[in-house]
Amino acid sequence: QGGDTRADLIPRYVRVNTLIWSTKDAVRHFLSQGYKEEGDPLTSKKAFQRDRHVPDLILFHPSTPFNDSPLLDSGKIILQDKASCFPAVILSPPAHGNAYVIDATAAPGNKTTLLSALMKGRGKLYAFERDKKRFSTLKKMVARAHCGNVEPTNADFLAADPHDARYSRVSHILVDPSCSGSGIVNRLDHLLETGELSLEDENDLDAQEERLQKLAAFQLSMIKHGMKFPAVEKIVYSTCSVHAAENEDVVSQALASDEAKDGNFFLADRGEVLPTWPRRGLPERMRVFNIQAESLIRCIPGDDHTNGFFVSCFIRKKSGTETDH
Ligand code: SAM
Repeated sequence: QGGDTRADLIPRYVRVNTLIWSTKDAVRHFLSQGYKEEGDPLTSKKAFQRDRHVPDLILFHPSTPFNDSPLLDSGKIILQDKASCFPAVILSPPAHGNAYVIDATAAPGNKTTLLSALMKGRGKLYAFERDKKRFSTLKKMVARAHCGNVEPTNADFLAADPHDARYSRVSHILVDPSCSGSGIVNRLDHLLETGELSLEDENDLDAQEERLQKLAAFQLSMIKHGMKFPAVEKIVYSTCSVHAAENEDVVSQALASDEAKDGNFFLADRGEVLPTWPRRGLPERMRVFNIQAESLIRCIPGDDHTNGFFVSCFIRKKSGTETDH
């Protein structure tokens, strides 16, 4: 695992695709394969556990070889880090026929397929992916997972017209844009998730800083674009970066933007953002919004038994319910 011992602290996470399977049947299957629902999956190769925060997520020993599993080919399971499940769980999209949701940056499709499952395959999920090659990966993943409500779109989200009639009822948007990927320590199955494969020269601090600033400007533009959709009520912004420049700093700027002011966007209260997860945002990086760091989620690679991750959730307040930003 690339010699990074933090990867040994990350269980093999298996997400049951509830569009075509159930956790009850999955547990029965794993028991029949000789696994036991007792013991610590980090130390015992035969132990499995259900996750405490993400429904339908099962933990196995990090070395469990699921990569060649027929369950993966059939779309019944998806190998997805726990933290990577948080954004879709926090976005909590509606699951009815009139639900309209956008995944702004979708490939390879881990979060798209989870959103589709949370929507119970109902309504419509527009999944944008700008890169042609990654778009074909997305289409394959969506087909394998039987996500009937997903409309994959090979387009730049920034070029999507918020006033296009197709998007007039979009109420939930996920923005999980390209980032430095600095939180990823087990690159086994997540190589494709960051959208950034160029490895920076770790000794060239100026180049690193410049790259972070460029990424942050792009990330901010994606959130602000999401805020322009007329019916949007909730936007989740996430990264697999540990750098505040891509996380709290971007959120602070988004909150201070004209788009947030015009659209009446605020951070959702902690109670709506996985309140039982203990590690929250960095208050010192939230500038004027420092008390709202409680509304943010951070994951430290290894320490939290996940890859490094960050999640924020913006909500539109109905006018008259909030006084100032
Ligand atoms: N959400 C994905 C998942 O969970 O599997 C991972 C997304 S990855 C971090 C970011 C993706 O956004 C990359 O595939 C990248 O090509 C795509 N992307 C970057 N800029 C975009 C844009 N302006 N519009 C649409 N897609 C974009």
